[in-house]
Amino acid sequence: PKPKKVCIIGSGNWGSAIAKIVGSNAERLDYVDNRITMYVYEEMVEGRKLTEIINETHENVKYLPGHKLPPNVVAIPDVVEAADGADILIFVIPHQFIRNICAALIGRIKPDAVGLSLIKGFDRVEGGAIDLISNTISRLLKIQVCVLMGANLANEVAAGMFCETTIGCKDKRVAPLLRDLIQTENFKVVVVDDVNAVEACGALKNIIAVGVGFVDGLGYGDNTKAAVIRLGLMEMIKFVDIFFPGSRLSTFFESCGVADLITTCFGGRNRRVGEAFIKTGKSIEVLEKELLNGQKLQGPITAAEVNFMLKNRGMEARFPLMTAVHRICTGEMKAADLLDHVRNHPEHM
Ligand code: NAD
Ligand code: 13P
Ligand code: CA
Repeated sequence: PKPKKVCIIGSGNWGSAIAKIVGSNAERLDYVDNRITMYVYEEMVEGRKLTEIINETHENVKYLPGHKLPPNVVAIPDVVEAADGADILIFVIPHQFIRNICAALIGRIKPDAVGLSLIKGFDRVEGGAIDLISNTISRLLKIQVCVLMGANLANEVAAGMFCETTIGCKDKRVAPLLRDLIQTENFKVVVVDDVNAVEACGALKNIIAVGVGFVDGLGYGDNTKAAVIRLGLMEMIKFVDIFFPGSRLSTFFESCGVADLITTCFGGRNRRVGEAFIKTGKSIEVLEKELLNGQKLQGPITAAEVNFMLKNRGMEARFPLMTAVHRICTGEMKAADLLDHVRNHPEHM
């Protein structure tokens, strides 16, 4: 059989780190075509096109500086060209851009292509609800979409430090292909079929991490931080229970659950910006620009998406932490009131 073509859609911090892994695995694996295409949202960096810099120096100097990409990873500024003929499409862009990217790809991809979404966030849909990003991709492009989520801070993965990740995939034929494409000695994959819960965990933990950033900024200690992480976890479990019935509690004990929650609450961008929000008094938008050099924050917009649905359903009080994070981000609530808001948490009743 012809080797499978793989396209990575996205080239930010995580997109570039995963390109490093997929690029070297592609060379090693016979069933994967050596040439990996990577869609790069074009921009000028010090007077040069970022795609040109990547293709000449094999380094994404803006989003993953200090790490070389394998030379078989080819940066392409046109998403349709990048995805042309691909059998496997890896989606890894900030979630707010997914609809535009899909719109460009409708009718332009292989009908039997398989998607793998690494994107954390939700999509607003009709009826005052939200949906998983993988469902939106699947609905728009009419392809099967699996997910990959885990305790995977991109810079550490790029540095080759040991970690685990979770692939959510129901298709027993596709799962081993995706696992082998992604797995390395230091990036261990566990595949589970509880796809919705895997993805929901990845999206929701970013909200909790913003809240933990507030806790750090307010100067509380490790016990308080642990309490907020725990309450956050309980809200994540309740959310999945209500909105994705049939999911399993065991999924929260995979890398995509507790482990990703922990790493993000200690080392992630959402935590960092949450802390700076308290200490500087600047808005989230301003801090994203000032601190992240073009990288995008997912937590505050995910909090808004979740709140949009909870509010529509009269369920805000059942999720006090997620609700407080949203209200603090938007200025509806004072950050100093965060703990008052969770003091009478349903978990304490
Ligand atoms: P990032 O935060 O580095 O975002 C920047 C990327 O967005 C750049 O490639 C930029 O060119 C691109 N971009 C900017 N404007 C755009 C537009 N209008 N259309 C399309 N692209 C545009 O990206 P990332 O860290 O790769 O994150 C992608 C997803 O992966 C997110 O959902 C994130 O939560 C998730 N994730 C990130 C990490 C991490 O450590 N960075 C780890 C796991 C999962
Ligand atoms: P941040 O976006 O908060 O950096 O989290 C990254 C992540 O998802 C780690 O798995
Ligand atoms: Ca190969």
